[in-house]
Amino acid sequence: MTEKKEFKTETKRLLDMMINSIYTHKEIFLRELVSNASDAIDKRHYLSLTNTNIPTEDYEIKIEADKANRTITITDNGVGMTKEELEDHLGTIAKSGSKEFLENISKEKTPDVDIIGQFGVGFYSAFMVAKKVSVLTKSVNSDKAFLFESEGLDSYDISDADKEGYGSVITLYLRDNTEDNDYDKFMDEYEIKQLVKKYSDYVRYPIKTWVTKTDPKDENDKDSKPTTHQELETINSMLPIWKKNKNEVTEEELNNFYMTKFLDYQAPITSIHVNVEGNITYNALLFIPKKPFYDFYSDRDEKGLQLYTKGVFILDKCKELIPDYLRFVKGLVDSADLPLNISREMLQEDRALKKIAQNVEKKVLSELSSMLKNDRDKYLEFYKDYGLNLKYGLYENYGEKKDKLKDLILLRSFNEDKLVSFAEYKEKMPEGQKAIYYAVAKDKDSAAKLPQMEMVKSKGYDVLILSDDVDEFMINVLAEYDELKFKSINKDDLELLDEDEAKKIDEMKEEKKDLLASIKEAIPSAKDVILSKRLVDAACCVSSTGEITFEMERVLKSQNRDVKADRVFEINPNHEVFKKLEEAYNTDKDYANKLVNILYNEALLQEGILPDDPKAFASDITSLILK
Ligand code: ADP
Repeated sequence: MTEKKEFKTETKRLLDMMINSIYTHKEIFLRELVSNASDAIDKRHYLSLTNTNIPTEDYEIKIEADKANRTITITDNGVGMTKEELEDHLGTIAKSGSKEFLENISKEKTPDVDIIGQFGVGFYSAFMVAKKVSVLTKSVNSDKAFLFESEGLDSYDISDADKEGYGSVITLYLRDNTEDNDYDKFMDEYEIKQLVKKYSDYVRYPIKTWVTKTDPKDENDKDSKPTTHQELETINSMLPIWKKNKNEVTEEELNNFYMTKFLDYQAPITSIHVNVEGNITYNALLFIPKKPFYDFYSDRDEKGLQLYTKGVFILDKCKELIPDYLRFVKGLVDSADLPLNISREMLQEDRALKKIAQNVEKKVLSELSSMLKNDRDKYLEFYKDYGLNLKYGLYENYGEKKDKLKDLILLRSFNEDKLVSFAEYKEKMPEGQKAIYYAVAKDKDSAAKLPQMEMVKSKGYDVLILSDDVDEFMINVLAEYDELKFKSINKDDLELLDEDEAKKIDEMKEEKKDLLASIKEAIPSAKDVILSKRLVDAACCVSSTGEITFEMERVLKSQNRDVKADRVFEINPNHEVFKKLEEAYNTDKDYANKLVNILYNEALLQEGILPDDPKAFASDITSLILK
């Protein structure tokens, strides 16, 4: 019985695009089909470990060309597919990597056919070289075989079939050659060998193809023409790339491996190859994608590394292997020290796995720190997308990891207008500077406008600009760097005045006690009113006191938590305005209160905080104009 079905529309779009993809990319079809075959064998082998009804056998993948019929056949003895699986997996792309691919490219305005070649789109890539594809398959979970046939764009048929043994046979009926496209080439044994070497060398199962061998010459017959015969030969080296010694693997091989395995269309920012032998033996390949994956910022994104034990694939996303803040790392770990039948629950408890995870974290961090040291541009590229993760990592769990992470953090320097590390900030500190100063501001320009910057700037000290929500929380957790305290120009006592001046202000504070008390009375929402030690030209500012800062107030508010920073109204005792206020309190208290309110609200506005009562603020100003 044959059933005719329509492909889903996304599938059609994808097929269309691939068929029109440029010629040099077409060769990746072989890599895709061989990977599928290898995955299928992995699955069968894994199932056979727990289910004795599933027999094992000598696993292999065969690639055969039939020049007379212009077909290429890829045969595997893996899990095979049931009828439902054929429909689910090949009739729709809903479940395959192809869907992600489509989502990715539809985000870009002009779909770039180039990415097809690098990314690969699984089974459908067969249509780049074939006008018709058939899949004869028998699942280890069924005693029936099925034949899937499709001529590309429009539909596919599934019919009952006969097949000996489990697994799949994929037959490609090659397209006709055109002026630009020589499809016959793919039937050439050298071409096949070369493609397998290039893309699939590390596949763990033998990939066999027929190669021509020259027969030994007949010694007795000097005139005999050389004859040949065909032999089935294994052409891949079968050693998984991660098990090779890291000196034997080129960067290009790693990049190719990463792109095929993790379906990325660009090479990673960096690859880390780890071979560890000793107490715990394992190999790992870790990659930092050039760009975060499309679902990186969504809840759908699951972190984790692939887990293999003794070369057998166990789990796709083992989250125990990577800390949250490094969730962007892709890769795999293969260890001989984990049992094959390890369960999800056991993973959390496993000592060896914990040790490996610690090591993986260490490797990634040391790679990042050498990148920062030796290739700053690359690090900046990394930091642009993932810096925030490191900041969260530092902040999480009350700064448990602060010592590991503090030297990987970069913040914008006000003086240099570029990202600097704490160490670099420290190195450039002029003599006499005793703290690391920071300002919470959206960028350099806004920081420049803060009245609180004046005193620090006048000393020539640099100020780090904190512009991410997490920054100030992180600095709080850090508390100090290399024995230098952090000081917020918006908040802390900057201790920048020389002793005499500071003393003068302290004396004045006593002297103007009553005046300050009257001012405080006029602005009940201020926790305190003080004579400022941080202002030079500006008349006044607000700062915060206590644990909660204005920035935290803002961040917490965005999370619907109504926590307010304690406000301090600071007045510059050397400013003309201060004298004016004093006069006003001596002559017209109501008027003076209005002035104070206006000044206070102005200062709040400069901090980006709206007046508590905008209406009163406006009418105060109006009444002043009318006076
Ligand atoms: P992907 O490999 O990215 O999932 P594909 O389009 O290549 O996408 O394949 C879709 C699915 O079809 C696979 O996930 C697998 O379940 C199934 N499949 C493909 N080839 C084979 C095969 N040779 N044997 C068994 N199942 C296969």
